[in-house]
Amino acid sequence: MAIDLRSTHKYFGRLLAHRSEEEIEQALTPARENLSPHVPRGDSTSQITPEAVHQRWQLLDGAAHSRASLLDATTLEQMGVYSKNIENFIGTVKLPVGLAGPLRVRGLYAQGDYYAPLATTEAALVASYTRGAQAITLAGGCTAAMFWEGVTRAPVFAFDSLIEVGKFLLWAGGHEDTFRTIAASTTRHGQLKRTRINLEGNHVYLIFEYSTGDAAGQNMVTIATDAICRFILENTPVQPAYWFVEANLSGDKKASHLSFQNVRGRKVTAEVTLTPTILGGHLKSSARQMLDFYRVSSIGGVMSGNIGIQGHYSNGIAALYIACGQDAACVAESAVGVTRFEPVGDRSLYAAVTLPNIIVGTVGGGTGLPSQNACLDMMNLSGPGKAAAFAEVCAALVLAGELSIIAALASGHFTQAHQTLARRPAEGAEKAGTPAHRDGSRRKPRENEGAT
Ligand code: NAP
Repeated sequence: MAIDLRSTHKYFGRLLAHRSEEEIEQALTPARENLSPHVPRGDSTSQITPEAVHQRWQLLDGAAHSRASLLDATTLEQMGVYSKNIENFIGTVKLPVGLAGPLRVRGLYAQGDYYAPLATTEAALVASYTRGAQAITLAGGCTAAMFWEGVTRAPVFAFDSLIEVGKFLLWAGGHEDTFRTIAASTTRHGQLKRTRINLEGNHVYLIFEYSTGDAAGQNMVTIATDAICRFILENTPVQPAYWFVEANLSGDKKASHLSFQNVRGRKVTAEVTLTPTILGGHLKSSARQMLDFYRVSSIGGVMSGNIGIQGHYSNGIAALYIACGQDAACVAESAVGVTRFEPVGDRSLYAAVTLPNIIVGTVGGGTGLPSQNACLDMMNLSGPGKAAAFAEVCAALVLAGELSIIAALASGHFTQAHQTLARRPAEGAEKAGTPAHRDGSRRKPRENEGAT
């Protein structure tokens, strides 16, 4: 990013107003003296013992209030359950959870009216998703389909020359079945589905794609791929100069151009058609307003260089992932996709969302933790056999969020809804002179109108 020189000059002016150049230089110089102690790791059998947790808190002088908040009685009692999910444990952070719904899903796997638990500190988010979910439910539900799944790991092997690359590929091409067998020996539920290659100079990227049962699968595919790589190293006729189990060609935890070429986790689509009555009565908007907004915001997204076309997938996905024990960092890849609105007849609206990277599990990872498991359980989405349904619920929730935010922005209620729900009402918000929206509305939003 290039920065304006004048701004830079001003920035330095502010920095130097209270400190000399020497003081700043000294503050920025690495200092190796008086290093603080390491965080105590606990004993060899468990990191989460009362003694180890106490020792960690002793590092933080004068943090009694923080300790009481993070290490409350329930956390203290249950702390052993976190042993597979965290290192250097000191407690838990409490997040408010709200219910968004009812959200009727008519899916290949998800069927029913769902109340989605959303963990967030952002006011207006649950209200907005609830509004969208209710609109979908009034329409009889959204149709949802999970139609492809796969999680990749992409190791790289660096050879000395293209000639060696050729010899390696000749050998590897005859061993795909062996790779599959080796992967199967590391997991009961994971399965190597296909192997692709990519080449760059004398580097070979192997792209292994797995199905992972009802687990999100990132650990599963890493363990399986590592086993395959070790077989390769022991048996290949040409040894690579070096290799790595992952070479950043899997899209793990990043929005990337791979998003639309591959699936990462589960590819899911949800669609609904809303009548003028629902659009006007519930979303306080119209097909025309929403289509106008959809068109300009799509163009704005293209000009911004967004990957995909969408309003705010990350809001709902992050809140649902956190509540349900999913890896929150995977929002980076999951919150990618395409929202499409089309007119139907004169005044109805077709809306669809397609998300190629919903990477969720209903077993493994954080899904067994007490409150996270409770959140999955309240949707009847905990345990084996539920991951595909959960992915469809994610897409349905995202659709609800798109409908609500676009209705709010299209009809001019977005700012007011935030003011109503996230702040005290601004004085004089409706005073004369506030420009009317295209529909002439200056109406105040109700409590559940879409903001986020
Ligand atoms: P995991 O908890 O490591 O593995 C899932 C476990 O559940 C496996 O032991 C699996 O057994 C078992 N399982 C039981 N019933 C199953 C069923 N019906 N379907 C699938 N598995 C079943 O979780 P993971 O999903 O592999 O990995 C997710 C975690 O990896 C997240 O916590 C995430 O934060 C983390 N992560 C890891 C990496 C990495 O590169 N290692 C990267 C990103 C994220 P079997 O294996 O015998 O089938």
